[in-house]
Amino acid sequence: MNHASLHITYPEKYQNNHTVVLVLGESGRRDHHHLFGYKVPDTPMLDQEKDLLAFSDMITPFDYTIGSVPVILSRYDRVMDHSILHPDLMTIFNAAGYETYWISNHPRLGPYDSMVSLFAFHAKHSKYVTEGNGVMSRPHLDGEMLPYVEKAMKEQVGNKLIVVHIYGSHELSSDRYPSAFSRFDDPYDNSILYSDYIISQVLDMARAQKGETTFFYVSDHGLRVNECVPGAYHGDIRQSYEVPFLAWFSPEWIDKHPAEYAAAKSHLNTPMTTHVLSDTIADSADLRFSDFDPALSIFSQSLKSSTRVIHSDQSSSVIDYDHSHNSLTCHVMADDNASR
Ligand SMILES: [Zn+2]
Repeated sequence: MNHASLHITYPEKYQNNHTVVLVLGESGRRDHHHLFGYKVPDTPMLDQEKDLLAFSDMITPFDYTIGSVPVILSRYDRVMDHSILHPDLMTIFNAAGYETYWISNHPRLGPYDSMVSLFAFHAKHSKYVTEGNGVMSRPHLDGEMLPYVEKAMKEQVGNKLIVVHIYGSHELSSDRYPSAFSRFDDPYDNSILYSDYIISQVLDMARAQKGETTFFYVSDHGLRVNECVPGAYHGDIRQSYEVPFLAWFSPEWIDKHPAEYAAAKSHLNTPMTTHVLSDTIADSADLRFSDFDPALSIFSQSLKSSTRVIHSDQSSSVIDYDHSHNSLTCHVMADDNASR
């Protein structure tokens, strides 16, 4: 990882009353959210949030967690880069004097988890609800994290970054929600319904914070949902790269950042990738550092979209998402004429 020390600078308007919240989703596919036009009403709580910004064209380069989450946290793409060159979110906010929290319903160690824990390790406070007496247990329901999220929100410690890593719609989706959320025929839709509840609960807590609060939700990737094979499983269909991205800002934050808020609203349909998230989230707290790139912030008019590279399940594959299609066997393929 990049362990270079980081010098943070602050604008004159900077105040010590920031709460920054990132809910990191799991296996939530954008086109299966009612909020983004899905026919099944599986996001009833988020649908009511009139002040929520919903970005319609966010792409992740990977269709699996240990590829996708490092891009969100540090712009690190394990196929394109050989090492983590950019500072990660925990390093940035630690350097800025924030209290940093990582609250997770994922296992801490394992072939699918250790890569993410490498980033979480830098948080000043961490809580894994799957861990009891030092032993990993089966994944728990995401709701078990809520008391720890509330505790972090209520701690009187000045500026805070709180990351909440939900288990969302991970295989098997039927294991991800309590029976009260078994409302639709497809278990995947029910898992989205439960995530809608969890995300809304965290948003309510963020809303209750005083001061300049920013809230983000992004899923790491989607799944193949009943395409080619019944059920919801990892798979490199094109839709697996299309993720929901939501943002909310407190009235006090909007008051202090009118131009940034207007810029974010102007980007609701801008094509982008999850590479923008670490700079965007740091920018929401007015943090500046040598590596900061305004072209990677949704709060900047200069946000620019370059070629949106995604990686299929074939190792080291590099595909231009905007010139790709699904094969008959439900894999993403570069268009024949994609040499543009
Ligand atoms: Zn994942």
